[in-house]
Amino acid sequence: MKYRSILLFGAPGSGKGTQGKILGAIPNFYHLACGDLLRRVTPESELGRIFRDYSSRGELVPDEPVIRMWRQHLEQVTRENIFDPAADILVLDGIPRNPNQARLLSESLDVLLVLYLGCADMEKMVLRLQRRALRENRADDDRADVIRKRLEVFQAESKPLLDFYGPALLRTIDATQTPLQVLRDVLHALEEHVG
Ligand code: ADP
Repeated sequence: MKYRSILLFGAPGSGKGTQGKILGAIPNFYHLACGDLLRRVTPESELGRIFRDYSSRGELVPDEPVIRMWRQHLEQVTRENIFDPAADILVLDGIPRNPNQARLLSESLDVLLVLYLGCADMEKMVLRLQRRALRENRADDDRADVIRKRLEVFQAESKPLLDFYGPALLRTIDATQTPLQVLRDVLHALEEHVG
């Protein structure tokens, strides 16, 4: 069985996490943020070490271990009755992040909608990430070179990933609006496409 899913897509700092958390609070939506899962992995484990190495350079963790962790998490929350694949819609935030991940997930996902939180001016994203660094104490947010690298990785992967899913599923939302305005647009898109 495939997971019915909405993909939240956008640059670091575009607000995927903010919107994803709000959607996850609605009954029958389950928010899964890949970066949050990775940050919760035991630092001494093999994946914990891999995560620290790659994320501290602003790079993506290799696809296979990420997808494996993602599958295990969903199987676990399904067993624990936190997530019900038959009734709930998955809100995926930060995964897939490149076309290879999208291919690896294709047998597991029934993608209903791709919500792209778009921003033409990457400097705005840099400012948001620097503010977040002060608030959340995230190691990958407080170094300007790491932030730039993450934005570069995003820009390189974003077009091929959006092409993978095609224009019919895509809705672009202006990520420079206030969180409330972004939420309004997200809800409109969901109402139209998911009902
Ligand atoms: P952001 O989108 O702001 O970069 P995230 O919390 O989504 O923040 O991700 C933080 C870091 O975790 C990324 O820079 C990357 O190293 C790693 N990461 C998150 N999701 C993935 C993924 N799907 N595949 C590979 N690495 C990932």
